[in-house]
Amino acid sequence: MGRSRISTLFTPYFRPAGHFDRAAAHKPILVLEEVMKVYRADAPVLRHIDLTVERGEFVFVTGPSGAGKSTLLKLIYRAETVDEGRILFCGRDIARLTEESIPHLRRNIGVVYQDFRLVPYWTVYENVAVALEVLGLPPKVIRSRVAVTLERVGLDGRGDDLVRVLSGGEQQRVAVARAIVNEPAIVLADEPTGNLDPVLALDILGLFEEIHEAGTTVLFATHDRTLLETSPHRLIVIDDGRCIEARDGLSQLGGVMDTDATASLH
Ligand code: ADP
Repeated sequence: MGRSRISTLFTPYFRPAGHFDRAAAHKPILVLEEVMKVYRADAPVLRHIDLTVERGEFVFVTGPSGAGKSTLLKLIYRAETVDEGRILFCGRDIARLTEESIPHLRRNIGVVYQDFRLVPYWTVYENVAVALEVLGLPPKVIRSRVAVTLERVGLDGRGDDLVRVLSGGEQQRVAVARAIVNEPAIVLADEPTGNLDPVLALDILGLFEEIHEAGTTVLFATHDRTLLETSPHRLIVIDDGRCIEARDGLSQLGGVMDTDATASLH
């Protein structure tokens, strides 16, 4: 299958909000059906996970350290593959994408990691622009989209600074800018505040809330109770390989989070 054909097939399906193809518009952005992930046969990480995320939702994914939050996100952006079950992104089974189609999927998914994953000796601008350069957009378009995005994340005027001179909170803002500059349909955040102090953590959470209010779907994995208490969003708990919908919020978690692995939590 040629490159242009793949983009014709995939790009329109994966655009946010009004850009969605009609065929995909009525479908949830993400559906996990009976998803299993097993690294060690005697201890499956995820067991029969069923989860539907509607377009425009903000969903917290929580659970003790080692519960499988990261693994769940990796399955969605296809850094890992499911052993059983299906993951549908805008109605499409991502397990069936060919290797050459995976970049097209990833263009519609922004990912933010705990450890930022920036290039420290590049400037702020370069770290964000790279996400558009790989798409071959004209330099003028790249410049203006990066400028708008840096303003959105509160880094207006910081484009020429080397990333390595920035604070942790600022670096995470750069990483968020890189994740959203291409206007992905969904942003996956994997413990994005794990390396930040509590005040900066709330700051970064606020940034994701703004991104969500602007129409982007957000899946935010964290085991920081303070963040979960601060924002009343839908809460999914991964525990013992299962996915639990915590409709009553944190109070429903009880002992789940009070394990040794999370003893450092408050
Ligand atoms: P969390 O993000 O909730 O802390 P992870 O998804 O990182 O949890 O890990 C879940 C479990 O899967 C852990 O026991 C971890 O050691 C294991 N695991 C994760 N990745 C791999 C891998 N590539 N190979 C083997 N085991 C893994």
